[in-house]
Amino acid sequence: MRVGVPKEIKNHEYRVGLTPASVAELVAHGHELFVETNAGMGIDFSDKAYEKAGATILPTAADVFEKAEMIVKVKEPQASEIAMLRPHHLLFTYLHLAPDPDQTMGLMKSGATCIAYETVTSNSGALPLLKPMSEVAGRMSIQVGAHYLEKEQGGRGVLLGGVPGVAPAKVAILGGGVAGINAAQMATGQRADVTIYDINNDRLAELDMHFGSQIKTAFASKAAIAQAVQEAELVIGAVLVPGAAAPKLVTREMLKTMKRGSVLVDIAIDQGGCFETSKATTHDDPVYEVDGVIHYCVANMPGAVARTSTFALNNATLPFALKLANLGAEKAMAADPHLANGLNVSGGKIRNQPVAEALGLPY
Ligand code: NAD
Repeated sequence: MRVGVPKEIKNHEYRVGLTPASVAELVAHGHELFVETNAGMGIDFSDKAYEKAGATILPTAADVFEKAEMIVKVKEPQASEIAMLRPHHLLFTYLHLAPDPDQTMGLMKSGATCIAYETVTSNSGALPLLKPMSEVAGRMSIQVGAHYLEKEQGGRGVLLGGVPGVAPAKVAILGGGVAGINAAQMATGQRADVTIYDINNDRLAELDMHFGSQIKTAFASKAAIAQAVQEAELVIGAVLVPGAAAPKLVTREMLKTMKRGSVLVDIAIDQGGCFETSKATTHDDPVYEVDGVIHYCVANMPGAVARTSTFALNNATLPFALKLANLGAEKAMAADPHLANGLNVSGGKIRNQPVAEALGLPY
């Protein structure tokens, strides 16, 4: 198959759909690869590296769309990219169509087959192509939290791990899923005093077994969270109710009880956020303060560590990209129902029920 990788054009997006190593893998399976010039430049993947891997470098995105049958990207296609999609194209990328009627209509009009990373499933019912980004965001949350706890960042002036003779900071992690466990791994690595709150008792038991005495676990009752935010220097919001807006676990009233200069990192901001006072921020301007509490609410945290994120994403997407290229979309989806769950749009129609329901369009 002819596979194309355009340069990402969303503001501050440095990730790229395929690494040179992934390109080499596809080439080794007999596919023809077309990469837009400078597609990986932001994270030090040179055109030379792609050429060495067997790709042909093309000067514009239009050339890539012209040559390729399958387009592999990271972010949802922008208007100029949608305009280049044709019915013979297979698009493999994050789409997040439910809140985006314009993009959905554009993809329907294009006639292309569009498979979304975020709805591909696994045997355990998880979302394997979302997982790497939750891992990145979870790990990053402690790094940014520690940074904003520093005095010159407006923080409380507290070192997460303390020092001999001085107690470590208290970190409360709300939601012990993929992002939560990764946050806990980083926080315990820095010797913080960590408690994970969740409403799933089985998950709390798993976390308890996994970390042993390194952390405490607690059922996420309103009372427990109210007490947690009073005591914690760093609160990480990492809850997810699939298909729904994040529950507001920390209310405005609770915020008033927090210590001045403490930090909230709302990873769940892409689902609306789990603190009542959260509003989405960007890497350009990541924090703001309410009642003396610093809020970090960047909706695309993995973009800040674009190189790590690209490798992590490729680890998860490459097996599916290979299947699609080897078999073609129809046969690949017939052979793998989890990949078939990724289909969102084809032949001018929405093929994913929750997306159709969210947009009030026929399925
Ligand atoms: P996950 O499904 O693995 O874990 C979510 C956890 O939240 C589960 O253990 C669940 O039991 C728990 N939970 C649900 N309701 C709860 C409640 N009321 N109180 C306490 N716990 C509750 O999800 P994940 O992959 O870890 O993702 C977490 C969030 O991070 C999602 O909103 C996801 O979209 C977001 N995310 C954001 C970024 C970013 O850049 N901001 C990046 C990746 C993921």
